[in-house]
Amino acid sequence: MAKKIKLKQLAKSDNKCDRCVESKCCQYVTQNIDKPTSIKDFDLLLWQISHRNVHIFKDEEGWFLLIWNQCTHLQLDGRCGIYEVRPLICREHSNDYCEYDVSIEEGSELYFSGYEDLDNYCRKRFKSWDKRFQKKAWRKYA
Ligand code: SF4
Ligand code: SF4
Repeated sequence: MAKKIKLKQLAKSDNKCDRCVESKCCQYVTQNIDKPTSIKDFDLLLWQISHRNVHIFKDEEGWFLLIWNQCTHLQLDGRCGIYEVRPLICREHSNDYCEYDVSIEEGSELYFSGYEDLDNYCRKRFKSWDKRFQKKAWRKYA
């Protein structure tokens, strides 16, 4: 399931979106992924995060792929080009406490911005991480 990043509630700021010149919540898409547990799961994530603009994070709702890619409907003035018919996920997104207040990285329990980030995490999490390519080892780690 996709999501827009919504964190804890804070005081409402009515003109916050006008001040958010980058329209931060229109700069990415997310996709929920199964919680990775095995070496093989994390090895697959390493492949995915090796692609440009793909990050991974974990928060209280689970694990997500985060793809930094601006929405094609975002206008130069920061407004939505399909405002009247924008998708439900955009309508339901509150600015009470959003990406303008705290970045996705800061609001996540775990955040991986690239291959090295995730590889270092796996190295600490799995003692046998570097042995996964050894002959006949692969099936054991699945
Ligand atoms: S909801 Fe938040 S991130 Fe989105 S445009 Fe408004 S202030 Fe910016
Ligand atoms: S449809 Fe509109 S509100 Fe939704 S992400 Fe695109 S520009 Fe932003």
